[in-house]
Amino acid sequence: MTGKIAIIGAGPSGCFLAQALLKAEPGLQVDLIDRLPVPYGLVRYGVAADHQGTKAVTRQFARLFERQGAGYYGNVGIGSDVTLDALRSAYDAVVLAAGLSADRALAVPGGDLPGVFGAGRLTRALYEHPEAEALPDLGPHPLIVGNGNVAIDLLRLLAKSPDELEGSDLGQGPTDWLAGSGIEEITITGRSPAAAAKFDTVMIKELGKLSGVAIRVIGAGESDDPEAQKKLDALKALEGGAGPRRITFRFGLTPLAVDGPGRAEAVRFATTDGEERLPCTSVLTAIGFDTPGDLPRDALLTEESGGRLAEGLYATGWFRRGPRGTIPDNRADAKALAERILAELRPDPSRPGADILQGRDHTDYDGWCRIDSAETANPPPGRCRAKITTREEMLSLARQEDMQ
Ligand SMILES: Cc1cc2nc3c(=O)[nH]c(=O)nc-3n(C[C@H](O)[C@H](O)[C@H](O)COP(=O)(O)OP(=O)(O)OC[C@H]3O[C@@H](n4cnc5c(N)ncnc54)[C@H](O)[C@@H]3O)c2cc1C
Repeated sequence: MTGKIAIIGAGPSGCFLAQALLKAEPGLQVDLIDRLPVPYGLVRYGVAADHQGTKAVTRQFARLFERQGAGYYGNVGIGSDVTLDALRSAYDAVVLAAGLSADRALAVPGGDLPGVFGAGRLTRALYEHPEAEALPDLGPHPLIVGNGNVAIDLLRLLAKSPDELEGSDLGQGPTDWLAGSGIEEITITGRSPAAAAKFDTVMIKELGKLSGVAIRVIGAGESDDPEAQKKLDALKALEGGAGPRRITFRFGLTPLAVDGPGRAEAVRFATTDGEERLPCTSVLTAIGFDTPGDLPRDALLTEESGGRLAEGLYATGWFRRGPRGTIPDNRADAKALAERILAELRPDPSRPGADILQGRDHTDYDGWCRIDSAETANPPPGRCRAKITTREEMLSLARQEDMQ
């Protein structure tokens, strides 16, 4: 079968979908279009710098471009550089795999005070996303609101000593920032009881390897459910230790307000017994993600059924399901959607496909390989990569071959 399919977003969900489409129908032209010059979405800019094993999935994604013939068009924002309508006219099918990158707001009084930072904002800065804001001053006692794996990632990173980051790809600036952060205590709070917390047990066990931290777990409780009890046992096994940094786990706390006046100084919570106020020097929210608004997700998803939004328009991954699920979860989604797209595809050879992107300052897969090589050729001691941090430098490296 022939036909032209554009996938908006070269993160895990876009890559898994392209793989499934090309495996079933190698004659298709499948193009992944990303607003960044570099592919792989949150694998590069969300997955923790000290979880290089997780990032190895990119080797599998590379085969998509190297062996399966998918096209890569980086540095092209759909909704900003090219309209969604223009793309839909150029391709037989278009799939939104754009993820969700905006931090969900902490919707309580004071939730927007200075000193309140979203996990996405912080991880983008830590992992040197080209559009990241500066790394903020968290003060000696940040308080994390949220009990998912993203919250635990942040907690672990903030609690690590510099020598525990060996082998990671954390850049020099973020490494210096962490070393000089002056963090003495981190409180992590969840709304649900510990037994219902969203983090995975394996993430909790990993915290047991931290050196130089003293950990307290308050109110973990017990559970009749064996799986939940494993989580509670892992939490309780963390208790103790000694060192310059203290971590306190709290549960069953629903945020009511962030107290200022000028900057976050405490969070007030509703508890089963009434109210409690926990002082802090900054608040880090890890409570989910939303669309940044360049693609009209709410309007599109109202029509959704099984990933199809309108004729020739589909959605997958976090953009479709919301900010839930790990990288492998996106693969199951992709397989089902590929079958549906192929069943409905009506190729029209007169459609221009990627020709409408020519003339734009886009990167291609070879350009990404040049960026990748530059980042991994001579990493600093203790690091596996030194990321290129600006869009200009990425574009200049990507273009080098063309200029020779
Ligand atoms: C901080 C954090 C840590 C995580 N850690 C892990 C982990 O350790 N293990 C794990 O399994 N899962 C982890 N996850 C979950 C995992 O990252 C997601 O399941 C996965 O990335 C979702 O894939 P996606 O392709 O839907 O979205 P994304 O990975 O966000 O990819 C979307 C892509 O679309 C592009 N894009 C966005 N808008 C546009 C536009 N308008 N035009 C063109 N391109 C656009 C983006 O640049 C991006 O490349 C983590 C998530 C977060 C937030």
